[in-house]
Amino acid sequence: MHCRKIHVTLILLVLCISVHPQDIRIGFFYDSDVQAVVFTTIEGEYILSGDGRKVAVIRKGAIFHVERNKSGLTVHDTVQSYGVYKNLEFTGASASNIFQVKPVLPSLPSKESDDDLSISIYNEALRVINRTGLEKYISGTVEAEGGSDALPEYYKAQAVIARTFAVKNFNRHAHEGFNLCDGVHCQAFNGKSRMNAQIYASTSDTRDEILVDINSKPAITAYHACCGGVTASASVEWSRDLPYLVPVKDPFCVGSRHRDWIKTILLKEWTTYLEKSYYYTSPDNLYKFNNPGRQKYLDEKNKRLLLAEMRKDFQLKSSYFYVTAEGNLVTFHGHGYGHGLGLCQEGAMEMARVGYTYVDILMFYYRNVKIANSKL
Ligand SMILES: [Zn+2]
Ligand SMILES: [Zn+2]
Repeated sequence: MHCRKIHVTLILLVLCISVHPQDIRIGFFYDSDVQAVVFTTIEGEYILSGDGRKVAVIRKGAIFHVERNKSGLTVHDTVQSYGVYKNLEFTGASASNIFQVKPVLPSLPSKESDDDLSISIYNEALRVINRTGLEKYISGTVEAEGGSDALPEYYKAQAVIARTFAVKNFNRHAHEGFNLCDGVHCQAFNGKSRMNAQIYASTSDTRDEILVDINSKPAITAYHACCGGVTASASVEWSRDLPYLVPVKDPFCVGSRHRDWIKTILLKEWTTYLEKSYYYTSPDNLYKFNNPGRQKYLDEKNKRLLLAEMRKDFQLKSSYFYVTAEGNLVTFHGHGYGHGLGLCQEGAMEMARVGYTYVDILMFYYRNVKIANSKL
């Protein structure tokens, strides 16, 4: 009975946050236990409600402090205190509403975003949720994840990728009252896209477009900084096959910033590491393994050490590397930056630069997919 009740509550919650399908609820400062924030109206006018009652009007430039204490959320501005509440809603009342919210305990970078904000208490910290339009969110993530000085066709490709992720994972945080968080757990969202008007224009140009697989399901649109010459297959990085995440030879990132890297460690560190994994073969075998493509294991015969694991253990830029030894040093010679799956950002930027469209870019890095029009 108890379980059933929880189940029903969850379903209601999911229905509740899907009422405005064009909207998305983003959990802000997800990786931090925020105890106090400052809210400022940047554009428009906000109505502040506490536990369903109107508390104040927040005009442009006004600053409101919200803090958690034992009895709830206290609110005050520079003049007066407005009481203690369990839930606060900052609702935009103008045609265009932009706010800024800045954690002050602990002190974190502020976020500026569109539309509404709610604050409540969850797990002894503030739960700060921004409700805004999906396309506004997408342009913010494109800026956070894709940089701010690329070309329109590249931004369009990133927008389709970010939107596909949002659609696919829309209920990931439903049990916490929002859709996606703003951290790397979902996709980075540092707030409104402000640096480059082109990003918002590119996002709008691809409105509602997502990538789907052969079963018309949203694809896992993995991407990374640089593949180093060939992208990885899902089976190598995740130990499962996906028809659209397969190795693609990439001539476009030749000469890019992260194409090649080296890292040197002490021979002792290397031998200790290998011994822990029961490698006792001769040094010749250990140091001269070749990795012309992207193999999965250090030694493809005994299949003991995954290169993806070694990447984490030695904090390497990628799992696409080979090893040499000289004197008491061992050097990793690697290519690329990131897991290597799906779109290579540095290659995609070059494709855009030489005239390919965002559709060309997406179809090059993801195979057996198509663009579909999907409304949440
Ligand atoms: Zn998340
Ligand atoms: Zn590449």
